[in-house]
Amino acid sequence: MKLVDTHCHLHLFEPVPAVDPNTTVHVMTVNPDEFDAARDLFGIEAGDAKRTGAPANIQVALGLFPEPVAAQEAALPAFLERLPDTRFVGEIGLDYVTESEDERARQRRVLETILEACGPQHVLSLHSRRAAADTVAMLRGFPGSAILHWFSGPAAVVESADPGLYWSLNTAMARSDRSKKLIRLMNPERILTETDGPYITIGDRPAAPKDVRRVIDFLAREWDVEAEEAAVRVWQNYQAALGGNQ
Ligand SMILES: [Zn+2]
Repeated sequence: MKLVDTHCHLHLFEPVPAVDPNTTVHVMTVNPDEFDAARDLFGIEAGDAKRTGAPANIQVALGLFPEPVAAQEAALPAFLERLPDTRFVGEIGLDYVTESEDERARQRRVLETILEACGPQHVLSLHSRRAAADTVAMLRGFPGSAILHWFSGPAAVVESADPGLYWSLNTAMARSDRSKKLIRLMNPERILTETDGPYITIGDRPAAPKDVRRVIDFLAREWDVEAEEAAVRVWQNYQAALGGNQ
């Protein structure tokens, strides 16, 4: 069974868990220094083609977390410098935990700069805490593949979103009745899987890439198909995301 975890902070696990070669992981970083360190950890040199001993199923993504905004602005030049080195971007986005309108506007300016610098080859993982409407609005017309990670609503934003947007679902969402209602509004051809480990936990351990299987089992129940069939559908969705929005 081919599986994909499009949002996992794999480098933060202690120790880093072994990943099945049939599971592809997008390793999320939150700033360019972390991206450099994670690439070193997994043995990836600058430039996607030059992988020195790194497993082909581990993709380190270049991130720039929106909070705190001053740190994000300071790291933006280093982020843009590294962008030509990777197709995979995340995590990026907006976080309206801050109530400052000025800070929110500054986050939007950074995101706008990132989106303008990205092209059809890029696959993005987006954080949108309390900023769903603005994040989705800013992605309209984006030429690459944009994945909304751990999307928490509101429902009206899902209903009016660009049908080309992707949604990555995790075990916390599969457990939540509120999330289930949202998931039923999402285009099934745009659904992907993630763990957001180690931030999401299962019992007293962090969710690891192997736990995307739990999300597949949830989707199998939702779609009324066998787990194998749910995994095939998600894998096809993932292949479409890699191919861009043509
Ligand atoms: Zn994350």
